[in-house]
Amino acid sequence: MDFEIHYTEEQQLFRAALRDWLEWHAPRNLNIPRDGRPLDPEAQEKLKEFRRKLGANGWLAPSWPREYGGGGLGPPLETVLREELRRLALPSVGDAPRWLSAMMVWGTPEQRLRYVPPALRGETISWQMFNEPDAGTDLASLRTQAVRDGSDWLITGEKSFITGRFDPDLLCTLAVTDPTRPPRLNLGIFMVDAHLPGITIRTQALLMGSERHVEMDNVRVPGNCLLGDPFAGWEIAQTILEGERGGFDSRLVDDGGTIKSVLQYLREQGQV
Ligand SMILES: Cc1cc2nc3c(=O)[nH]c(=O)nc-3n(C[C@H](O)[C@H](O)[C@H](O)COP(=O)(O)OP(=O)(O)OC[C@H]3O[C@@H](n4cnc5c(N)ncnc54)[C@H](O)[C@@H]3O)c2cc1C
Repeated sequence: MDFEIHYTEEQQLFRAALRDWLEWHAPRNLNIPRDGRPLDPEAQEKLKEFRRKLGANGWLAPSWPREYGGGGLGPPLETVLREELRRLALPSVGDAPRWLSAMMVWGTPEQRLRYVPPALRGETISWQMFNEPDAGTDLASLRTQAVRDGSDWLITGEKSFITGRFDPDLLCTLAVTDPTRPPRLNLGIFMVDAHLPGITIRTQALLMGSERHVEMDNVRVPGNCLLGDPFAGWEIAQTILEGERGGFDSRLVDDGGTIKSVLQYLREQGQV
């Protein structure tokens, strides 16, 4: 049986044009720590500029509809795009696998237009804030609380092990919206503006690399930042995690780069 990957003529032409484009536009000589630490301001700025250029072509979300800022390409060309971006070995430049799909399912038409096009144009960076110091695998035990105050919500709590190499604009935050309701039926998801007062972000050192720790102290969030129903957070989180951990997005990408880098590491360690 032939296990070789064969590319169509359309894919090959697209790859050639894309390589030319990347030759001109991809940033070079960036200081990118290998351990996942936050990027320095200069690297962030150059990569953000590159994201905006990719976004202007719809290439941050190649197969998304053009009306939302996607590229309108099919999976075959999306595969080529992802392979070529991966070759550059830059930190992940897209937001797509995470809350964006959930926004299309659960968001109001107004919310979709408010959040999705700027993200796909490369103008905003979001972090996913589910995990807490005492709530990892068991997200139903999380403690961050969102309390209604008129038409706003006041959010207080801590989130840990949050991935974020770029400084964020939006924090997609899972919180308890009514502690009197049963677990899983008491959660809501908010798109929190990361620049609001009451938000403190620290870098959390790990044995290898680092992640981020975020404290929210009575952060006032407008009611229209709640995604879907106030008690639909569990279901929305499942929509997001399905996309992130096992969905279409993960299957599409050729993982040859990861396998190669693991082999290289083992060779360096004298293990193979
Ligand atoms: C590099 C990195 C990046 C991350 N980025 C993000 C991010 O961007 N956003 C975010 O929200 N989170 C993020 N996380 C957090 C991640 O989602 C959690 O680490 C994960 O949910 C597991 O939680 P935990 O580490 O607290 O482990 P625990 O929940 O303590 O689990 C430890 C072990 O116990 C097992 N276990 C736990 N509870 C049970 C149970 N009831 N029954 C059986 N087995 C159980 C687990 O399967 C696991 O093997 C990140 C974590 C890492 C390491």
